[in-house]
Amino acid sequence: MMKWFKRALAALPLMMALNPAPRCEENRPDLRMPGRVSLTGLVPADQNLAAEPSLRDAVHRLTSKLQSDAPFDKSDVRDAEDLARRCGENAALRRLAVIALRAAATRARALRDFGESLRLLDLAIALDSDATETRLQKIDLLLDQNEWYEAETVARSVLSTDAESSSALLGLGYALLRQDNARESAEILARCLAVRDDTVVREMLQRVQETLKREHKLTEERLPRFNLRYDGLIHEEIGREVLARLEEIYSVLVVEFEHEQTTTIPVTLFTRKLYHADGRAPGWSGGAFDTFDGRVRVAVDELSATDIDRLTPMLTHELTHVIVHDLARGNAPWEMQEGLAQYMEGKRSKAAPARAERRTIDAQTRPDVSDAYLSALAWVEHIIELGSQRDINATLWQAGQTGDFNEAFRDVFGFDYAESHAAFVKQHAVQRQHPAVDPDGR
Ligand SMILES: [Zn+2]
Repeated sequence: MMKWFKRALAALPLMMALNPAPRCEENRPDLRMPGRVSLTGLVPADQNLAAEPSLRDAVHRLTSKLQSDAPFDKSDVRDAEDLARRCGENAALRRLAVIALRAAATRARALRDFGESLRLLDLAIALDSDATETRLQKIDLLLDQNEWYEAETVARSVLSTDAESSSALLGLGYALLRQDNARESAEILARCLAVRDDTVVREMLQRVQETLKREHKLTEERLPRFNLRYDGLIHEEIGREVLARLEEIYSVLVVEFEHEQTTTIPVTLFTRKLYHADGRAPGWSGGAFDTFDGRVRVAVDELSATDIDRLTPMLTHELTHVIVHDLARGNAPWEMQEGLAQYMEGKRSKAAPARAERRTIDAQTRPDVSDAYLSALAWVEHIIELGSQRDINATLWQAGQTGDFNEAFRDVFGFDYAESHAAFVKQHAVQRQHPAVDPDGR
């Protein structure tokens, strides 16, 4: 048996204890609100709503367009805004203006102009402040944009007039969860389930309840930036140390990404047993950022406060995910997320062990998973060489504003993301198969 292999095997339990790999998930629930449905059925049959000739023409054009269910174009949006300005107290005209503005907002959203979509919805809400469907459309948009507090506010306003709106309850339940209010989230989701028993609601409630059950005995410290939960009896000292380290890492990442996190970051320190209690994390994982609830979970029981340095790469990795996710509002591709997280924790692909060794170190990690992570790291290194961290930040920011990462990348870097990434992955795989040019071959 090769010497390094024997050494690696002997060191395996230690490595597993000290270097558990982070694991990252993208699993936001699909909270589709009724705002995306066709508006055709709501259009009044009578086209002669307006007496004034110029307005009558606009009403004709809008009703025909809405009845045909064809997507709005620029001139339709102008008509809709014109009608909104001039409809006065005429109830039928106001109703049509609201429907037209909602269709215009749908168009803006399809074009990924979220600010414009929000503006048009607010115009519609100003015309008819009780319109539940318009406000649900707004909640849907806000949740998509990670605007949790605003989504909560609108959902509560819907519920004040329609306490049984299952969509508002679902939106509110999720917005609360993402603001680290799992307890109220569970209450709201239970109310939602009572009026709408479907898989999405049931699974969400189940996951939130699991979280509450796992965390109910933990000590909770709420700080401006982090909500830290840990077992006060076992981890008191390490809890304080972790918090100080999180603050240090955070301040470095804020400079790197030129971005301040918009919400408090919930971090939970678990014993290994409790960390694995929900059965979701694979055996090799020791830390995770979960986009379902925005929480960072870390298993720490092998560590003492003086071992905190060993936790730093993982905390850096997970915090990078949190910040990149927030900056790009969930629109960064997997390889960018994982490449950046590894890069920030200090990993470099040239220094990575050969495949066989990685397989041993990662123990239960599948080799393809390990390769994929390494490839993501090499890709991000490549991108940083071509541009700069600033370019990456600009790309992530733009992707967050428009929802389109590929377009943002092309705007900043000047070439196609998907194509160049695919070519890179291919080339990287070939390099690794030929030891002569294999950067990590030994
Ligand atoms: Zn990760």
